[in-house]
Amino acid sequence: MEKYDVVVIGAGPGGYVAAIRCAQLGLSTACVESWLNVRGRPALGGTCLNVGCIPSKALLDSSHLYMELRRHGAEHGIQAQDVTVDLGRMMERKNKVVDDLTRGVAGLFRKHGVQWLRGHGRLLPERRVEVTLLGEQAGEQIQVQAEHVIIATGSVPGALPEAPVNNDLQVVDSTGALAFDAVPENLAIIGAGVIGLELGSVWNRLGSKVVLLEALPRLLPMLDDAVSGALSKLFKNQGLEVLLGARVSATRTKKRRVTVNYEQQGESKSLEVDRLIVAVGRRANTAGLGLQECGVNLDAHGYIKVDRHCRSSLPGVYALGDVIGGPMLAHKASKEGTMVAELIAGKRHSPVNYDRVPWVIYTWPEIAWAGLTEEQAEERGHRCRSGRFPFRASGRARAMGSWDGFVKVVGEVETDRLLGVQAVGPNVSELIAEVVLALEFEASTEDLARTIHAHPTLSEALHEAALAVSGRALHA
Ligand code: FAD
Ligand code: NAD
Repeated sequence: MEKYDVVVIGAGPGGYVAAIRCAQLGLSTACVESWLNVRGRPALGGTCLNVGCIPSKALLDSSHLYMELRRHGAEHGIQAQDVTVDLGRMMERKNKVVDDLTRGVAGLFRKHGVQWLRGHGRLLPERRVEVTLLGEQAGEQIQVQAEHVIIATGSVPGALPEAPVNNDLQVVDSTGALAFDAVPENLAIIGAGVIGLELGSVWNRLGSKVVLLEALPRLLPMLDDAVSGALSKLFKNQGLEVLLGARVSATRTKKRRVTVNYEQQGESKSLEVDRLIVAVGRRANTAGLGLQECGVNLDAHGYIKVDRHCRSSLPGVYALGDVIGGPMLAHKASKEGTMVAELIAGKRHSPVNYDRVPWVIYTWPEIAWAGLTEEQAEERGHRCRSGRFPFRASGRARAMGSWDGFVKVVGEVETDRLLGVQAVGPNVSELIAEVVLALEFEASTEDLARTIHAHPTLSEALHEAALAVSGRALHA
């Protein structure tokens, strides 16, 4: 039986990063991965690279370019007549981006000497891992012995019994919605969360009439009320219809049409569409892993229970990424991956501070936040003051012709410590990195206000919002 210092199960952004970091630290490392890509070939990268972050952003970028040319080209003096979409070509581009990046991870494994075991992993007692192989040796089983096992098996789309998914037909999950063969004329999405808004934006831009059915009474409740209110208006102006407080009670598929029955404010309503996307959250992927038999405890929601250093209830077995819950984000999984690798290699590492994990929703305008909202800060007993700056007063946003949105900076009254930032606007996905750095260094809003920001850049809006905390914004 092969012996390794570390065996990682799952090669998403949590598992593959952990494996590479372990190898960099001199640990003999194998990574078990069972993903098969659209051509039935084994692939690394997990949900993120294959059916998550990367393909969704490829389609968001393509559809954004189409929208810019159609709706805003003329403003820039660019007359682009008859701009049309070749959806097949757009999908090919997306698939190529995915292929290039997943092959890149395989290259990194070779470079760092991580052994890729192509197959399905199952935990056995005493830190042995059974691998049911794929490919030429399909069905054969091998066992490997590890000093340490890292479980990074990710998550899968959550199901809704009222809307069973069949990705080849009309009712799909996020994976199906990244591979439509035609632009649906009418599209409904159950869940106006992160996936609903991103994929709703893609298909809306490409020409679908999109309706989102959201059970909660408020859009994106993790944001301040005022921010989610402003977003509702912006999405409405783009033609994205969001029905709040709408609970789906049943769906029926007939002759390539889907009827969706839902309850809203005590009334029974229905709508008919060509396609329906179910995007109601994701759940831990622990099927067939043999966890409980070995003594790895799960919580009431099926996530693997871990301590602040991602140690499971079984000594020598760690778990990280989506499978342990918390923010289901690639960069959170990767951060846990490096932490666990360093702990295994005997280095010190402080626990991940989940208050400093940035969030981005890649709609247009983009939405990004880090730290606490004003409401969350007050709930935790902070007295807050805040400053806000609109992108309509930003020279760079004006030059781009994209100035919807604003930056809001929240600080603590007594200490001026920066508590959090929420931003809606062009490219705020890039601007949020400065905020996370400031939070890491426990900066004050005054530190942000005294920092020189290049002109003309979108980051000046952050600078101005920091000045606005003490009523000193210069351009608004
Ligand atoms: P995963 O990426 O899910 O990887 C787990 C891997 O484990 C998979 O490859 C799976 O095949 C493998 N595996 C599972 N069980 C076994 C087994 N028994 N044996 C062998 N292998 C196994 N996050 C962001 O930060 N930014 C985004 O823009 C973003 N966009 C997203 C868009 C969509 C449509 C979706 C669905 C998700 C998106 N996410 C995004 C979330 C992100 O993809 C996840 O948070 C991230 O992939 C979690 O990483 P992970 O390593 O924990 O698990
Ligand atoms: P989500 O939790 O973001 O949103 C699900 C939404 O569905 C919620 O608003 C919820 O209230 C609603 N909902 C649940 N049950 C419902 C029902 N029966 N009827 C109507 N609405 C219902 O989950 P998601 O959008 O599926 O995405 C899953 C996770 O993937 C996200 O939480 C995020 O962590 C990750 N993700 C991240 C990004 C990014 O970082 N840009 C992009 C996509 C996905």
